[in-house]
Amino acid sequence: MTLAIFGGTFDPVHLGHLSVAWEAAELLDAEVRLLPASVPPHRAAPVASAPQRAAILREALKGQSRLVLDTRELDRSGPSYTIDTLHELRAEQGDRPLVWLVGADAFAQLASWHRWRELFEVAHLGVLSRPGASAALPEELEHEVAGRRVVAAADLRGLPAGNVIELAVTPLEISATRIRGLLAAGRDPRYLLPAGLFNDSSLLAPYRA
Ligand code: ATP
Repeated sequence: MTLAIFGGTFDPVHLGHLSVAWEAAELLDAEVRLLPASVPPHRAAPVASAPQRAAILREALKGQSRLVLDTRELDRSGPSYTIDTLHELRAEQGDRPLVWLVGADAFAQLASWHRWRELFEVAHLGVLSRPGASAALPEELEHEVAGRRVVAAADLRGLPAGNVIELAVTPLEISATRIRGLLAAGRDPRYLLPAGLFNDSSLLAPYRA
């Protein structure tokens, strides 16, 4: 079975993340790991600490076994580079197909990632459609990706790495930025987050004013 890995800050994880991760599992017939980053190299520090974000993810993933939490980046010190994580996973998984899942907005920035061209040597890239993300890519990224595009999930199965597949998932315009804003303003974003997060008031406390 293909192993797909969905990295992100997950500050906090929301129903947009869970829904697209689940659809990717279905489309790729894959096990999906959600892999939170500890110190994202590209952006401001998360509002919630690594243990707080992991606790939210654990609660969010309850009741199913297809999406699982992988805390390896939280357990490592220093910046989380995707390429290092992928090399580690490759060493563990042998020739199993690996797919790094990324939202279309994040994919458009790929050429700014550390050792980005090497990513294709270690994994496939699965690009999740996201409302508001432009389909146009910067020239050097388009150039790298052009010969790698495949349409069918079956085209990834026999190959460990190297291709790019667009995954047309149900568009959900939910972002963690908006959820943090609502919580900080004292509002209740109940149906944008997994219901279980509201059963324990300590889980979302880091985001409340
Ligand atoms: P923030 O608003 O803090 O930037 P976010 O909601 O974009 O957060 P991240 O943790 O930064 O969430 O995203 C992790 C990954 O999930 C990224 O690849 C991002 O593109 C993708 N993603 C997040 N929300 C969605 C969504 N609603 N639809 C598709 N992809 C998404």
